[in-house]
Amino acid sequence: MMSIWKDIYGFFFPSFCVSCDERLSTQEDYLCLYCLATLPRTLSHLYRQTPLEQVFWGRMPIERAVSFFYHEGESTKQIIWQMKYNSRPKLGGYIAQLYAREIIDSGFFDGIDIIIPVPLTWRKTLRRGYNQTHYIAEGISKVTGIPVVTNAVKKTKDTASQTNFNRLERLDNVDNVFRLIRPDIVRNKHILLVDDVLTTGATLCSLGKAIMSGAEGVRFSVLTLSLAGSLKGMPYTSKNDAMGE
Ligand SMILES: [Zn+2]
Repeated sequence: MMSIWKDIYGFFFPSFCVSCDERLSTQEDYLCLYCLATLPRTLSHLYRQTPLEQVFWGRMPIERAVSFFYHEGESTKQIIWQMKYNSRPKLGGYIAQLYAREIIDSGFFDGIDIIIPVPLTWRKTLRRGYNQTHYIAEGISKVTGIPVVTNAVKKTKDTASQTNFNRLERLDNVDNVFRLIRPDIVRNKHILLVDDVLTTGATLCSLGKAIMSGAEGVRFSVLTLSLAGSLKGMPYTSKNDAMGE
């Protein structure tokens, strides 16, 4: 929109920061500059063999894993809640583009063939009206040019919300809920799995397992916007600190 019209539109229909609820200037989208600058970034793309990657060791062939920010404080929780439950799916795409631009020069995306967002069951997609992880994947694709694949894996069973489960219960809860339906698309590919929040890695491991069960030669990288649970306060120096949960 031309800037003068944007100014006039913004005067009559002001928008507000999804994180702190302050009124946005016409130069700002979704997040105010303050919230954007003070996001608790993990900077995980600058490190190798982080606790974040180690979560997947022995469970699937993992190349790299990153998260944009720590899931802490009201501000970051608001961002995820808004995109997930408050009909702001485009917010996920917007944040994902920001993140992809911040890390693309680190080489994180090099060699990745396709992006697969964690699927929802059709029932849940229908109820919510959208799958937020698709939007996150599309945002990354827009910046990197890597294609998004949404027809290779299906989620066949609804899972209970993971929030009140411990690690073992979480693993059990998400086991065998995904099914690979197009092995031809994923065979021998380096796949970027995308989700909104990483807590224990149970969902992503279950998805990885389903893909590996029907296709050879796959390897994975992982990208989530938010990093929660015990991985949250991870120091990058000691692997034992973050592995126990
Ligand atoms: Zn703000």
